[in-house]
Amino acid sequence: MDDCIFCKIARGEIPSAKVYEDEYVLAFRDINPMAPTHVVIIPKRHVRNMNEIALLSEAERLAVLSACEKVAALEGVAESGYRVVSNCGPDADQSVQHLHFHVLGGAKLSVNLA
Ligand code: AMP
Ligand code: ZN
Repeated sequence: MDDCIFCKIARGEIPSAKVYEDEYVLAFRDINPMAPTHVVIIPKRHVRNMNEIALLSEAERLAVLSACEKVAALEGVAESGYRVVSNCGPDADQSVQHLHFHVLGGAKLSVNLA
């Protein structure tokens, strides 16, 4: 997608603080962190959100999910704990229309999910 900010990050047209990358996935630090560890994980191929996850291949879906675990380990929060969040649509305040997963940790997180 030409005008998608996360596609531009995936193509290297906008800089990001990369945490992890493989063939299918890029993970980078959120520009407005809400926890000491706040990493955004995206499939490199554009789909809008969880409603379109079936458009990704099985390999892409597995890579995105596996990247959450890898990022948690790389960030040193695997044992202390972390949260994986994907905002989907208006009620969830999805602000970037490219599927992404937030990995949040490094501190005791709020119990409020909604
Ligand atoms: P969401 O509200 O779930 O759509 O989350 C989008 C996230 O992308 C927000 O937490 C933003 O801070 C983050 N974000 C937007 N632009 C950038 C960027 N250029 N680099 C890193 N994170 C970004
Ligand atoms: Zn995109």
